[in-house]
Amino acid sequence: MAFTLSGDDACQITPPSPIPNPYWVAFSSSAAKLIGLEIGSNELPADATWLEVCAGNALSSTSHQFTQPLSTVYSGHQFGVWAGQLGDGRAILLGEIQGQELQLKGAGKTRYSRMGDGRAVLRSSIREFLCSEAMYSLGIPTTRALSVVGSEMPVRREIMETAAVCTRLAPSFLRIGHFEHFASLQNTSRLAELANLLIQDHYSECQNASNPYLELFKQICQRNAKLVAQWQAVGFCHGVLNSDNISAIGLTMDYGPFGFMDQFQIDHICNHSDQGGRYAYHRQPQIMHWNMACLASAFLPLLELSNDASEAQSLLREALEEFPVAYASAWQSLFRQKIGLMTEDDGDIRLIERLLQAMHDSKVDFTYFFRQLSQTRQNQDIQTICLRDHFIDRSSIDQWFSDYINRLKSENSDDGERRKLMNAANPKYILRNHLAQAAIDKAKQHDFSEVKRLLEILSRPYDEQPEYETYAMPPPPDLEKVEVSCSS
Ligand code: AMP
Ligand code: MG
Repeated sequence: MAFTLSGDDACQITPPSPIPNPYWVAFSSSAAKLIGLEIGSNELPADATWLEVCAGNALSSTSHQFTQPLSTVYSGHQFGVWAGQLGDGRAILLGEIQGQELQLKGAGKTRYSRMGDGRAVLRSSIREFLCSEAMYSLGIPTTRALSVVGSEMPVRREIMETAAVCTRLAPSFLRIGHFEHFASLQNTSRLAELANLLIQDHYSECQNASNPYLELFKQICQRNAKLVAQWQAVGFCHGVLNSDNISAIGLTMDYGPFGFMDQFQIDHICNHSDQGGRYAYHRQPQIMHWNMACLASAFLPLLELSNDASEAQSLLREALEEFPVAYASAWQSLFRQKIGLMTEDDGDIRLIERLLQAMHDSKVDFTYFFRQLSQTRQNQDIQTICLRDHFIDRSSIDQWFSDYINRLKSENSDDGERRKLMNAANPKYILRNHLAQAAIDKAKQHDFSEVKRLLEILSRPYDEQPEYETYAMPPPPDLEKVEVSCSS
């Protein structure tokens, strides 16, 4: 069910503000299927009313009417500090189709816009669109993107840019920040409504638990622990892991200055506005845990409905301690798969850590390395492994390969079979910053072909696509440092 907290304190009916002369920039036929629209891949909807809807210029298509467009209020912690009330400052929920909420991002001011203009620019909308769809194809939980619609309407950021609207889809856009909002107002009945909504629609497994709210909290932690492990496994940095950007159903959401790492640097910071590196790659798990602690505080009044105060606290504290355990278990399993191990051995984690340290020291391309690693054969002479040339300290990486091959031999796995499994765990194609940038540069000239091509390539990230070999390569040196900031 679409966001159902009705009432002035939770949301406001907000019609989108139109943009002049809208045009399609990008469209995902795969996302369209979720709402029952059958549109051929690489095609645009023939029904022109969808362009008007996705631009925010109309509230009905031929097939659907959206009678209650609304924006919702939430609060949150930004960069570790309580920021108070935030809310959908530029997002408008149109309604729900087949269990998917449709939300326009960048469709104009709302009651929660604060100092903002309610708009999004073409550049950031294309990035969100491509990354949402790429994450989905990688098998990582995410909000989806149906389309980007552009307009020549000017929007001021560091420089003048043009407006775009990204239509997002998700079973729910509820965030940790929604809970924090009503907790900060000590509004326990609203908190209970939110929790009940989640249990009913997204966490039915909690319904029959002896303490449904505690179980709900645990399940939210579990989903987000697994999610962040999946990010680490593909070298994804979110960039702004504020509690208002963390999904209550465990989706990657609010794509801003995110980045997939090219060269592996454990402390990589993708958002150049994040000077202290709070959201650096290696901190993501601990930051997600921190966000779950924010959620725990917000859940306290809910647990106090059925437990005394100190009991409620200790139940939540214990539940919170399960986060690092769930994360570690998911991480270990994903990285074992990445290096092709089918069994568990005590030394595996040390083996993986030694590899990551060596990759960090030599700034090895994360995606390229893991993809190529599947080529290793058990009877291979280490001197013939091409990947060793990517490392500065050859003797140390040779030792690693020797230990790795011995470990493979201990499993006696079939090289061909293992290669297949490893290729299904290590994507060949990711949304590298320089690729997104090239697509954006063309789109600014009204050439959307590169956005379309990237969408197509990234929809099959684990497949070999020989015609697109260059898209799998690390960026050329002059394009290594495409910088992205919070401005969007
Ligand atoms: P973000 O950092 O994008 O997650 O946004 C933080 C808060 O600022 C959210 O409440 C957004 O809705 C709001 N916001 C971001 N950009 C704008 C904008 N251009 N206009 C209005 N609100 C915005
Ligand atoms: Mg946000």
